[in-house]
Amino acid sequence: MGGIKCLICSMNINPKSYNLNSYSFLEKNEERRIINCPFCGVSRIYLDSENDIYVVDDRGLDKDSLKVLDHAMKLEVFNGEFYEEASRLADDEDLKQTFNDLSKIEFTHARIHKRLGGFERLPKLHRPDYTRHNTDDLLLIEASHREEHAILFYKKNSDKVSSGIIKQIFGALSDVEEQHGIITKRHLANG
Ligand SMILES: [Zn+2]
Repeated sequence: MGGIKCLICSMNINPKSYNLNSYSFLEKNEERRIINCPFCGVSRIYLDSENDIYVVDDRGLDKDSLKVLDHAMKLEVFNGEFYEEASRLADDEDLKQTFNDLSKIEFTHARIHKRLGGFERLPKLHRPDYTRHNTDDLLLIEASHREEHAILFYKKNSDKVSSGIIKQIFGALSDVEEQHGIITKRHLANG
């Protein structure tokens, strides 16, 4: 595996990292066959050995775009924290690992927005009490709602950002959330 880099989250994909967060993917990476970025989940088309990562000059971003990025960052932290907690609450070992990996991916999404918006730090959010989701199925239903909400968020807000690069990144991340939605539904069906 030559050194490849994710153009969206800027992480390096190598023999040590290619297999990370594998429970969050429908099809798992193999050392010689990389399908998704193991850190942010975007598809192979955004991985490259030569190009620079996508950057936008945040001084050039208008108020509306910055507002959307701030909102996107919060949404991803909120979901990342939910999955962190869901991983603790779930009974099934396989599901625990899945929630754990999903949490890592959502936090990477939050860091992508942080970089794009030039924000100083990730937000500290109020952490709701999730213990009312006291079965694996209830956790999965909540997860599935969140994925649908995130997909809708990216779709709706893509029109509000001026930068073509941000629109493209929103599309790529939305595809990742789509995959998460399929995975959570699959777990639900398999009970
Ligand atoms: Zn990535």
